[in-house]
Amino acid sequence: MKFGTKVIHAGIEPDPSTGAIMTPIFQTSTYVQDAPGKHKGYEYARTKNPTRSALEKNMTALENGRDAICFGSGLAAMDAILKLLKPGDEIVSNNDIYGGSYRLMTNIYGKFGIKSHFVGMNSTKDLEDSINENTRLIWIETPTNPMLNIVDIRKICKIARKKGVLSCVDNTFASPYLQNPLDMGADIVTHSATKYLGGHSDVVHGVVIVKSPELAEQLRFIQNAVGGVPGPQDCFLILRGIKTLHLRVQRSCDNAKKIAKFLQSHPKVDKVYYPGLRSHPNHKIAKRQMKDFGGMVSFDIVGGSLRDAHKVLKGTHLFALAESLGGVESLIGHPASMTHASIPKKDRLRVGLTDSLIRLSIGVEDVDDLIEDLEKALSNI
Ligand SMILES: *Cc1c(COP(=O)(O)O)cnc(C)c1O
Repeated sequence: MKFGTKVIHAGIEPDPSTGAIMTPIFQTSTYVQDAPGKHKGYEYARTKNPTRSALEKNMTALENGRDAICFGSGLAAMDAILKLLKPGDEIVSNNDIYGGSYRLMTNIYGKFGIKSHFVGMNSTKDLEDSINENTRLIWIETPTNPMLNIVDIRKICKIARKKGVLSCVDNTFASPYLQNPLDMGADIVTHSATKYLGGHSDVVHGVVIVKSPELAEQLRFIQNAVGGVPGPQDCFLILRGIKTLHLRVQRSCDNAKKIAKFLQSHPKVDKVYYPGLRSHPNHKIAKRQMKDFGGMVSFDIVGGSLRDAHKVLKGTHLFALAESLGGVESLIGHPASMTHASIPKKDRLRVGLTDSLIRLSIGVEDVDDLIEDLEKALSNI
Protein backbone atom coordinates (compact mmCIF):
# COMPACT_ATOMS: atom_id res chain seq x y z
CA MET A 1 0.00 0.00 0.00
CA LYS A 2 1.35 3.46 -0.89
CA PHE A 3 1.73 6.15 1.78
CA GLY A 4 -1.25 8.27 0.67
CA THR A 5 -3.52 5.21 1.00
CA LYS A 6 -2.01 4.02 4.28
CA VAL A 7 -2.76 7.30 6.07
CA ILE A 8 -6.45 6.73 5.41
CA HIS A 9 -6.85 2.95 5.52
CA ALA A 10 -4.03 1.19 7.40
CA GLY A 11 -5.34 -0.38 10.61
CA ILE A 12 -8.73 1.30 10.23
CA GLU A 13 -11.85 -0.91 10.04
CA PRO A 14 -15.49 0.17 10.13
CA ASP A 15 -16.83 -0.36 13.66
CA PRO A 16 -18.13 -3.98 13.70
CA SER A 17 -21.14 -3.22 15.92
CA THR A 18 -22.54 -0.27 13.92
CA GLY A 19 -20.61 0.08 10.66
CA ALA A 20 -19.43 3.58 11.67
CA ILE A 21 -16.74 4.46 9.13
CA MET A 22 -14.83 6.63 11.63
CA THR A 23 -13.14 4.87 14.55
CA PRO A 24 -15.41 5.52 17.57
CA ILE A 25 -14.02 7.28 20.65
CA PHE A 26 -14.20 4.46 23.18
CA GLN A 27 -14.60 6.64 26.26
CA THR A 28 -14.49 3.82 28.77
CA SER A 29 -12.14 2.79 31.56
CA THR A 30 -13.15 -0.87 31.77
CA TYR A 31 -14.83 -3.65 29.77
CA VAL A 32 -17.45 -6.18 30.86
CA GLN A 33 -16.22 -9.78 30.94
CA ASP A 34 -18.42 -12.81 30.07
CA ALA A 35 -16.82 -14.85 32.84
CA PRO A 36 -13.71 -14.27 34.95
CA GLY A 37 -10.81 -13.91 32.49
CA LYS A 38 -13.12 -14.41 29.50
CA HIS A 39 -13.15 -11.11 27.55
CA LYS A 40 -12.89 -9.65 24.05
CA GLY A 41 -9.20 -8.68 24.32
CA TYR A 42 -9.87 -5.58 26.43
CA GLU A 43 -9.78 -5.63 30.24
CA TYR A 44 -8.79 -2.17 31.47
CA ALA A 45 -8.17 1.00 29.43
CA ARG A 46 -4.66 1.81 30.69
CA THR A 47 -3.58 -1.47 29.11
CA LYS A 48 -5.64 -1.27 25.93
CA ASN A 49 -8.28 0.92 24.31
CA PRO A 50 -9.78 0.28 20.83
CA THR A 51 -9.39 3.91 19.65
CA ARG A 52 -5.74 3.84 20.71
CA SER A 53 -5.26 0.39 19.13
CA ALA A 54 -6.49 1.71 15.76
CA LEU A 55 -3.99 4.60 15.94
CA GLU A 56 -1.18 2.24 16.97
CA LYS A 57 -1.91 -0.02 13.96
CA ASN A 58 -1.99 2.99 11.65
CA MET A 59 1.32 4.39 12.98
CA THR A 60 2.93 0.93 12.70
CA ALA A 61 2.09 0.98 8.98
CA LEU A 62 3.24 4.57 8.42
CA GLU A 63 6.71 3.87 9.86
CA ASN A 64 7.00 0.32 8.44
CA GLY A 65 7.38 -1.10 11.95
CA ARG A 66 6.03 -4.10 13.83
CA ASP A 67 4.33 -2.25 16.67
CA ALA A 68 3.53 1.30 17.76
CA ILE A 69 2.89 2.39 21.33
CA CYS A 70 1.10 5.66 22.11
CA PHE A 71 1.62 8.07 25.01
CA GLY A 72 0.11 11.23 26.46
CA SER A 73 2.86 13.45 24.97
CA GLY A 74 6.05 13.30 22.92
CA LEU A 75 8.10 13.55 26.10
CA ALA A 76 6.13 10.73 27.76
CA ALA A 77 6.99 8.60 24.69
CA MET A 78 10.66 9.51 25.07
CA ASP A 79 10.50 8.79 28.80
CA ALA A 80 9.30 5.25 28.05
CA ILE A 81 12.26 4.75 25.67
CA LEU A 82 14.73 5.95 28.33
CA LYS A 83 13.17 3.49 30.79
CA LEU A 84 14.70 0.71 28.67
CA LEU A 85 18.00 1.82 30.30
CA LYS A 86 19.33 1.19 33.80
CA PRO A 87 21.69 3.09 36.14
CA GLY A 88 25.23 3.13 34.73
CA ASP A 89 24.05 3.08 31.11
CA GLU A 90 25.00 6.02 28.90
CA ILE A 91 23.36 7.89 26.05
CA VAL A 92 25.02 9.66 23.13
CA SER A 93 22.88 12.28 21.41
CA ASN A 94 23.38 15.00 18.83
CA ASN A 95 24.08 18.32 20.51
CA ASP A 96 21.22 20.40 19.12
CA ILE A 97 18.16 18.39 20.12
CA TYR A 98 14.80 19.65 21.36
CA GLY A 99 15.23 21.45 24.71
CA GLY A 100 12.70 19.21 26.48
CA SER A 101 14.55 16.08 25.35
CA TYR A 102 17.82 17.53 26.67
CA ARG A 103 16.11 18.37 29.98
CA LEU A 104 14.67 14.86 30.35
CA MET A 105 18.05 13.22 29.70
CA THR A 106 20.09 15.51 31.95
CA ASN A 107 17.84 16.80 34.78
CA ILE A 108 15.71 13.68 35.24
CA TYR A 109 17.67 10.63 34.06
CA GLY A 110 20.99 12.13 35.18
CA LYS A 111 19.66 11.82 38.75
CA PHE A 112 19.14 8.09 38.26
CA GLY A 113 22.73 7.49 37.17
CA ILE A 114 22.21 7.60 33.42
CA LYS A 115 24.76 9.86 31.78
CA SER A 116 24.19 11.66 28.46
CA HIS A 117 26.84 12.92 26.06
CA PHE A 118 26.03 15.52 23.41
CA VAL A 119 28.14 15.59 20.25
CA GLY A 120 28.08 17.02 16.74
CA MET A 121 27.08 14.05 14.62
CA ASN A 122 28.56 15.31 11.37
CA SER A 123 31.89 14.11 12.75
CA THR A 124 32.03 10.31 12.91
CA LYS A 125 35.16 10.61 15.05
CA ASP A 126 33.47 12.73 17.76
CA LEU A 127 30.63 10.22 17.84
CA GLU A 128 32.87 7.15 18.05
CA ASP A 129 35.04 8.80 20.72
CA SER A 130 32.00 9.33 22.94
CA ILE A 131 30.85 5.70 22.73
CA ASN A 132 32.19 3.43 25.49
CA GLU A 133 31.31 0.04 26.97
CA ASN A 134 28.41 1.61 28.95
CA THR A 135 26.76 3.23 25.94
CA ARG A 136 23.34 1.75 25.48
CA LEU A 137 21.48 4.26 23.28
CA ILE A 138 22.29 6.66 20.44
CA TRP A 139 19.66 9.37 20.19
CA ILE A 140 19.28 11.16 16.87
CA GLU A 141 17.05 14.11 16.11
CA THR A 142 16.90 15.22 12.47
CA PRO A 143 16.16 17.81 11.16
CA THR A 144 17.14 19.69 14.32
CA ASN A 145 15.48 22.62 15.96
CA PRO A 146 15.92 25.53 15.22
CA MET A 147 19.14 25.28 13.15
CA LEU A 148 17.70 22.59 10.84
CA ASN A 149 20.87 20.53 10.74
CA ILE A 150 20.54 17.08 9.20
CA VAL A 151 22.06 13.93 10.71
CA ASP A 152 22.91 11.04 8.37
CA ILE A 153 20.58 8.38 9.80
CA ARG A 154 22.00 5.42 7.82
CA LYS A 155 25.58 6.24 8.77
CA ILE A 156 24.91 6.72 12.50
CA CYS A 157 22.63 3.66 12.80
CA LYS A 158 25.31 1.55 11.13
CA ILE A 159 27.82 2.69 13.75
CA ALA A 160 25.27 1.93 16.50
CA ARG A 161 24.70 -1.58 15.14
CA LYS A 162 28.43 -2.24 14.87
CA LYS A 163 28.89 -1.22 18.51
CA GLY A 164 25.84 -3.16 19.72
CA VAL A 165 24.05 0.01 20.83
CA LEU A 166 20.34 0.80 20.33
CA SER A 167 19.53 3.66 17.97
CA CYS A 168 16.49 5.91 18.22
CA VAL A 169 15.40 8.69 15.86
CA ASP A 170 13.13 11.54 16.94
CA ASN A 171 11.26 11.93 13.65
CA THR A 172 8.98 14.78 14.75
CA PHE A 173 10.32 17.44 12.37
CA ALA A 174 10.21 15.24 9.27
CA SER A 175 7.04 13.19 9.94
CA PRO A 176 6.71 9.68 8.45
CA TYR A 177 5.75 11.26 5.12
CA LEU A 178 9.27 12.61 4.61
CA GLN A 179 11.45 9.93 6.17
CA ASN A 180 11.16 6.44 7.70
CA PRO A 181 14.15 5.84 10.03
CA LEU A 182 13.34 2.13 10.64
CA ASP A 183 13.98 1.54 6.91
CA MET A 184 17.39 3.22 7.36
CA GLY A 185 18.52 0.92 10.17
CA ALA A 186 17.13 2.60 13.30
CA ASP A 187 15.82 0.34 16.08
CA ILE A 188 13.30 2.86 17.43
CA VAL A 189 11.50 5.88 15.97
CA THR A 190 9.51 8.36 18.01
CA HIS A 191 7.28 11.37 17.34
CA SER A 192 5.76 14.21 19.19
CA ALA A 193 2.40 13.63 17.47
CA THR A 194 1.46 17.08 18.80
CA LYS A 195 3.18 18.48 15.70
CA TYR A 196 2.72 17.21 12.10
CA LEU A 197 0.82 13.98 12.87
CA GLY A 198 -1.98 15.81 14.71
CA GLY A 199 -1.41 18.80 12.47
CA HIS A 200 -4.16 21.07 13.82
CA SER A 201 -2.65 22.42 17.06
CA ASP A 202 -5.41 20.87 19.15
CA VAL A 203 -3.80 17.92 20.95
CA VAL A 204 -0.62 16.83 22.78
CA HIS A 205 0.41 13.24 22.04
CA GLY A 206 3.43 10.97 21.46
CA VAL A 207 4.22 7.67 19.80
CA VAL A 208 7.06 5.13 19.63
CA ILE A 209 7.40 2.66 16.73
CA VAL A 210 9.73 -0.36 16.68
CA LYS A 211 10.60 -3.31 14.48
CA SER A 212 11.83 -5.90 16.96
CA PRO A 213 9.22 -7.96 18.88
CA GLU A 214 11.43 -7.89 22.00
CA LEU A 215 11.53 -4.07 22.06
CA ALA A 216 7.79 -3.94 21.39
CA GLU A 217 7.14 -6.21 24.34
CA GLN A 218 9.41 -4.23 26.68
CA LEU A 219 7.85 -0.91 25.66
CA ARG A 220 4.31 -2.29 26.03
CA PHE A 221 5.26 -3.46 29.51
CA ILE A 222 6.57 0.04 30.34
CA GLN A 223 3.47 1.70 28.86
CA ASN A 224 1.19 -0.40 31.06
CA ALA A 225 3.39 -0.31 34.16
CA VAL A 226 4.01 3.46 34.10
CA GLY A 227 0.67 4.49 32.65
CA GLY A 228 1.39 7.68 30.68
CA VAL A 229 -1.29 6.77 28.16
CA PRO A 230 -3.30 9.16 25.96
CA GLY A 231 -7.08 9.49 26.24
CA PRO A 232 -9.27 8.06 23.47
CA GLN A 233 -10.44 11.50 22.29
CA ASP A 234 -6.81 12.52 21.75
CA CYS A 235 -6.14 9.30 19.79
CA PHE A 236 -9.17 10.07 17.63
CA LEU A 237 -7.85 13.57 16.90
CA ILE A 238 -4.44 12.20 15.87
CA LEU A 239 -6.11 9.58 13.63
CA ARG A 240 -8.15 12.33 12.04
CA GLY A 241 -5.10 14.53 11.55
CA ILE A 242 -3.10 11.72 9.94
CA LYS A 243 -5.68 11.28 7.17
CA THR A 244 -4.36 14.47 5.52
CA LEU A 245 -0.71 14.17 6.64
CA HIS A 246 0.67 13.70 3.11
CA LEU A 247 -1.32 16.65 1.73
CA ARG A 248 -0.46 19.00 4.58
CA VAL A 249 3.24 18.19 4.78
CA GLN A 250 3.70 18.40 1.01
CA ARG A 251 2.01 21.80 0.95
CA SER A 252 4.16 23.00 3.86
CA CYS A 253 7.30 21.86 2.01
CA ASP A 254 6.22 23.62 -1.19
CA ASN A 255 5.47 26.82 0.73
CA ALA A 256 8.70 26.59 2.75
CA LYS A 257 10.84 26.30 -0.39
CA LYS A 258 9.34 29.49 -1.80
CA ILE A 259 9.65 31.33 1.50
CA ALA A 260 13.29 30.25 1.95
CA LYS A 261 14.09 31.62 -1.53
CA PHE A 262 12.23 34.85 -0.80
CA LEU A 263 14.15 35.34 2.46
CA GLN A 264 17.46 34.48 0.81
CA SER A 265 17.04 37.33 -1.65
CA HIS A 266 15.77 39.86 0.91
CA PRO A 267 18.25 42.68 1.72
CA LYS A 268 17.40 42.70 5.45
CA VAL A 269 17.90 38.96 5.86
CA ASP A 270 21.34 37.60 6.63
CA LYS A 271 21.48 33.78 6.88
CA VAL A 272 18.65 31.45 5.90
CA TYR A 273 18.61 27.93 7.35
CA TYR A 274 16.62 25.50 5.19
CA PRO A 275 17.85 22.03 4.18
CA GLY A 276 16.30 22.47 0.74
CA LEU A 277 18.70 25.29 -0.15
CA ARG A 278 21.81 24.17 -2.01
CA SER A 279 23.81 26.45 0.30
CA HIS A 280 22.74 24.39 3.36
CA PRO A 281 25.75 22.40 4.63
CA ASN A 282 23.73 19.14 4.89
CA HIS A 283 21.70 19.61 1.69
CA LYS A 284 23.07 16.41 0.10
CA ILE A 285 22.23 14.20 3.10
CA ALA A 286 18.76 15.75 3.29
CA LYS A 287 18.22 15.02 -0.40
CA ARG A 288 19.29 11.41 0.09
CA GLN A 289 17.27 10.55 3.16
CA MET A 290 14.19 12.77 2.96
CA LYS A 291 11.40 12.82 0.39
CA ASP A 292 11.31 16.62 0.60
CA PHE A 293 12.87 19.24 2.87
CA GLY A 294 10.19 19.98 5.46
CA GLY A 295 8.16 22.98 6.51
CA MET A 296 10.54 24.67 8.96
CA VAL A 297 12.69 27.67 8.02
CA SER A 298 14.96 29.70 10.31
CA PHE A 299 16.66 32.98 9.44
CA ASP A 300 18.84 35.67 10.93
CA ILE A 301 18.46 39.36 10.17
CA VAL A 302 21.19 41.72 9.02
CA GLY A 303 22.81 43.49 11.97
CA GLY A 304 21.67 40.81 14.39
CA SER A 305 19.93 43.07 16.90
CA LEU A 306 17.30 41.80 19.31
CA ARG A 307 15.30 45.00 18.79
CA ASP A 308 15.02 44.40 15.06
CA ALA A 309 14.08 40.76 15.65
CA HIS A 310 11.25 41.93 17.92
CA LYS A 311 9.99 44.28 15.21
CA VAL A 312 9.68 41.35 12.80
CA LEU A 313 8.15 39.04 15.43
CA LYS A 314 5.52 41.62 16.33
CA GLY A 315 5.00 42.75 12.75
CA THR A 316 3.36 39.68 11.21
CA HIS A 317 -0.40 39.18 11.13
CA LEU A 318 -0.82 35.75 9.54
CA PHE A 319 2.22 34.20 11.23
CA ALA A 320 1.15 33.87 14.87
CA LEU A 321 3.78 34.34 17.58
CA ALA A 322 3.72 30.98 19.36
CA GLU A 323 5.73 27.92 20.34
CA SER A 324 5.12 24.53 18.67
CA LEU A 325 5.06 23.69 14.96
CA GLY A 326 3.57 21.41 12.36
CA GLY A 327 0.02 22.77 12.34
CA VAL A 328 -1.98 23.98 9.35
CA GLU A 329 -1.45 27.60 10.44
CA SER A 330 1.92 29.33 10.11
CA LEU A 331 3.77 30.29 13.28
CA ILE A 332 6.69 32.59 13.98
CA GLY A 333 8.94 32.15 17.00
CA HIS A 334 12.02 33.51 18.73
CA PRO A 335 14.09 30.51 19.88
CA ALA A 336 16.46 32.53 22.13
CA SER A 337 13.61 33.73 24.36
CA MET A 338 11.01 31.01 23.75
CA THR A 339 11.83 27.37 22.94
CA HIS A 340 15.55 27.58 23.79
CA ALA A 341 15.56 30.08 26.66
CA SER A 342 16.73 27.36 29.08
CA ILE A 343 19.97 26.82 27.11
CA PRO A 344 22.90 29.03 28.28
CA LYS A 345 23.67 31.87 25.86
CA LYS A 346 27.23 30.78 25.12
CA ASP A 347 26.00 27.28 24.19
CA ARG A 348 23.31 28.82 22.01
CA LEU A 349 25.76 31.08 20.18
CA ARG A 350 28.13 28.18 19.53
CA VAL A 351 25.53 26.50 17.29
CA GLY A 352 24.49 29.79 15.59
CA LEU A 353 21.40 30.38 17.71
CA THR A 354 21.74 34.16 18.00
CA ASP A 355 19.40 36.61 19.71
CA SER A 356 18.11 37.68 16.30
CA LEU A 357 17.36 34.21 14.94
CA ILE A 358 13.74 33.79 13.89
CA ARG A 359 12.05 30.42 13.33
CA LEU A 360 9.07 29.83 11.07
CA SER A 361 6.72 26.86 11.01
CA ILE A 362 5.19 27.13 7.57
CA GLY A 363 1.54 26.13 7.36
CA VAL A 364 -0.65 25.30 4.40
CA GLU A 365 -2.02 28.78 3.65
CA ASP A 366 -1.60 30.46 0.25
CA VAL A 367 2.10 31.17 -0.02
CA ASP A 368 1.58 34.60 -1.64
CA ASP A 369 -0.18 35.82 1.50
CA LEU A 370 2.56 34.38 3.72
CA ILE A 371 5.29 36.13 1.73
CA GLU A 372 3.38 39.42 1.77
CA ASP A 373 3.04 39.10 5.57
CA LEU A 374 6.81 38.57 5.99
CA GLU A 375 7.61 41.35 3.54
CA LYS A 376 5.56 43.82 5.61
CA ALA A 377 7.10 42.67 8.90
CA LEU A 378 10.64 42.96 7.50
CA SER A 379 9.91 46.49 6.27
CA ASN A 380 9.56 47.52 9.95
CA ILE A 381 13.33 47.34 10.43
C1 LIG B 1 7.64 19.04 20.70
C2 LIG B 1 8.77 18.09 20.56
C3 LIG B 1 8.99 17.08 21.51
C4 LIG B 1 8.14 16.95 22.76
O1 LIG B 1 6.84 16.59 22.46
P1 LIG B 1 5.56 16.99 23.37
O2 LIG B 1 4.43 16.39 22.62
O3 LIG B 1 5.53 18.48 23.46
O4 LIG B 1 5.79 16.35 24.70
C5 LIG B 1 10.03 16.20 21.30
N1 LIG B 1 10.85 16.32 20.22
C6 LIG B 1 10.67 17.28 19.30
C7 LIG B 1 11.59 17.35 18.14
C8 LIG B 1 9.64 18.20 19.44
O5 LIG B 1 9.49 19.18 18.54
